[in-house]
This record gives sequence, structure tokens and C-alpha cells, in this order.
Amino acid sequence: MRETIVQAGDPVLRQRARPLSPGEIHSAEIQNLIEHMREAMRSAPGVGLAAPQVGQSLQLAVIEDRAEYHKDISGDLMAERQRKPVPFQVLINPEIVSRSEEHKIFFEGCLSVAGFCALVPRSALLRVNYLDQHGLPQSLEISGWHARIIQHEVDHLQGTLYIDRMLSRSFTSLDNLAQYWNGEPVERVLERLK
Ligand code: ZN
Repeated sequence: MRETIVQAGDPVLRQRARPLSPGEIHSAEIQNLIEHMREAMRSAPGVGLAAPQVGQSLQLAVIEDRAEYHKDISGDLMAERQRKPVPFQVLINPEIVSRSEEHKIFFEGCLSVAGFCALVPRSALLRVNYLDQHGLPQSLEISGWHARIIQHEVDHLQGTLYIDRMLSRSFTSLDNLAQYWNGEPVERVLERLK
């Protein structure tokens, strides 16, 4: 399923996606798209996927951070990133209505920039309003890694990729991340890249 994920350079990733109407959300077409995106995200695997990444310029994203993805990550790193399992979540027409001044910097990747990652500053805390898969309005205050995922996905729906926000000197292939940078505290990575 990985080959179905659109890669950087495709114009659909740079468009502002169109909001969905309540009527559309209940349509078989959109409900099927949600299922397709859930499958594509799991088989990649990834913790989030936005509709433009499957070629649909619609304000729809799915998120899921499964405990099984965390088994090779140290407890210290999980705590530093404030990363915890997030159950499957559908965000339609999401809007970040407030965000903290405080930022956190961590390595982040994207299924549409396959094979690479970089340090990206993200707000530590935010409030997001959105419609769920039933078209019901939701409002959540979110922090930690979940907040990072939401910011990444909401960016996709505005035509923004993490490479627009990254600390560009930290851009690395995943192989080189594992070889040279993994396990280093972010402060030390920043020091070495000066
Ligand atoms: Zn992405």
C-alpha cells in the first residue's frame, strides 16, 4: 500500500484542501476514503495520514499512534517526547484555535518525504476544533507527541510540509539518523550542527 502515498513534488501536497460539508461526511465515498486511509496509514506504517497524501485535496486526516510502534523506543525517549498511544482518530475540517508560545524540537518525518527526517519545532500545547467521522463537532486540548502529529496533519491540509518548518541543517536520511544521531539529546544534536 505504501506506493499509493503521494511523494513530495506532487502539486496536490501544495494545495489548500477543500473543507467537507456535513452531508459529504456521511457519504459512502468519504466513509470509504476514511477506511482506505486507515489501511494505508497502518501498512506504511505511520502515525498520521492526510487526504492529500492519497491524492485527495480534502480537509480530512487520520491519526493513530499504536503501542506496538513504541516497543523499540527507550522509556527515556518516550518520556522526553511525551509520547503515548493515541487511539484511531479522524479529523475533518480541523482548525488549531490556540497554541502555546512554548515550542518543542524533535526529529520528525513524513510518509510523503519517504526516507528522511529533520528537527522540527512545534507548539507544546494546542487546542483543535474539528468534526469527527460522524460529523460531530469536537474540541480537544492536546500536548506532547499527539500535538506534534496534529500540527503536522493540519499543515498537510494547508499545503505545508515539515520541510517548510524544519531546522534545515538537521535534515537527514533515516539510515544516517540511525548511524550518527539516534539517541543523542536534541540539545547535543543542535550543538553539533552549529
Ligand atoms: Zn506528513
